[in-house]
Amino acid sequence: MKVLKFGGTSVGSAERMKALVQLINDGEPKIVVLSAMSGTTNSLVEIGVALYAKEHQKANSLIDVLEKKYKDVITQLYSGAPALQKGRELLDSHFNYLRSFTMDLFTVNEERAILAQGELLSTALFHYYLEEIGVESVLLPALNFMRIDENEEPDLKYIEAHIKPELAKYAGKKLFITQGYICRNAFGEIDNLKRGGSDYTATIVGAAIQSDEIQIWTDIDGMHNNDPRIVDKTHPIAELSFDEAAELAYFGAKILHPTCILPAQTRNIPVRLLNTMQPEAKGTVITSKVSGDSIKAVAAKDGITAIKIKSGRMLLAYGFLRSVFEIFERYKTPIDMITTSEVAVSLTIDNTRHLEAIKKELQEFCSVEVDTDQTIVCIVGNFSAAKQGFALRVFESLKNIPIRMISYGGSENNISILVDGKLKKDTLVALNKGLF
Ligand code: ADP
Ligand code: ASP
Ligand code: MG
Repeated sequence: MKVLKFGGTSVGSAERMKALVQLINDGEPKIVVLSAMSGTTNSLVEIGVALYAKEHQKANSLIDVLEKKYKDVITQLYSGAPALQKGRELLDSHFNYLRSFTMDLFTVNEERAILAQGELLSTALFHYYLEEIGVESVLLPALNFMRIDENEEPDLKYIEAHIKPELAKYAGKKLFITQGYICRNAFGEIDNLKRGGSDYTATIVGAAIQSDEIQIWTDIDGMHNNDPRIVDKTHPIAELSFDEAAELAYFGAKILHPTCILPAQTRNIPVRLLNTMQPEAKGTVITSKVSGDSIKAVAAKDGITAIKIKSGRMLLAYGFLRSVFEIFERYKTPIDMITTSEVAVSLTIDNTRHLEAIKKELQEFCSVEVDTDQTIVCIVGNFSAAKQGFALRVFESLKNIPIRMISYGGSENNISILVDGKLKKDTLVALNKGLF
């Protein structure tokens, strides 16, 4: 069984939803994971912000605008009265639910329930469409099996144990539709896998059912060698290894959710990135195979905070780094990059929720400097130690860019540098010119 995920633009209009049918209706067994229609999750975030601020009038008018959009979608999507009626009832129930929050207490739990509405809507609308045109499908509620644990990590054991019986209820059925992004947390409340999380749903489901292949269908023909939103003349990469793809996703290649490669890698399931607008394009295939020995791609991750920790003779004093890391561990704050010298350590974090508390504890035994709005630029390829000259090519390309940190040698497929966020575009353009 394959898992196919279609992103926001791939279900972004009635026309796009109709076009999906030819990509999924080949009689082969599959689970189709859908995102919310493009723009919906952003609107739901805005509605949540208004509700938090008790700006009920604003929330209501945002809800009205979104509802109008969906009313247009159903009139374009369905041709017969029964499907239209079902569509109207669906919209009434979801939009009345959204409106109910203008009267209720609003907490983080209600916010998450609001964020889940986009995927619940897109999957039901698509399922009704299939029904109307006579294509048999089963709507699988993701909230019945997708779960994260108390560390907000997918609970693969639970998911495996719950999705299998769910599928088994429909023996002989081939086409299953489910929601991306949404899940329940360790307390059973509605939660989500963070923005872009439908990719993660697809790879988690793929791992849970030991799928033959996971396909991520989006609006571009695979992973490109650089960020196409920033740099002109990028090109798709035919093959990537799991490690290479995981680095690119984690360090900012928006085409993939930051941590979605791991479940596929753990179970060695190929991931194919494909373009719904150009289904015949080869895209990118991600497997355990390491191919080529060159620089393949660059990606950039914004909003990084660099922390420089200084103390006299710190490296000779063993245990120093442990006391530093323990503080980050206690505050559940992952460190991305790290470089050391005899007197100082520089490291970067992305999650600044506990920055002040971390700083205070560090200052008890060393001096601390913090720089915000930094960008990690990650250069990915196969840099096996036997080959020379990769670092030279990278730094030659960046001769006019001030670099704050460099990390090389951590793995065989990554060189990371830290630059001021304002230099991100210049850095990506310079690397494109120098490397590709
Ligand atoms: P979806 O809604 O299908 O999940 P996303 O917007 O999340 O789609 O991801 C696809 C977008 O990722 C592309 O339109 C492209 O602009 C952006 N992107 C950023 N970096 C890359 C890259 N290296 N390769 C391909 N696409 C990238
Ligand atoms: N709808 C969610 C988002 O916009 C999840 C996704 O599209 O992957 O972030
Ligand atoms: Mg996405």
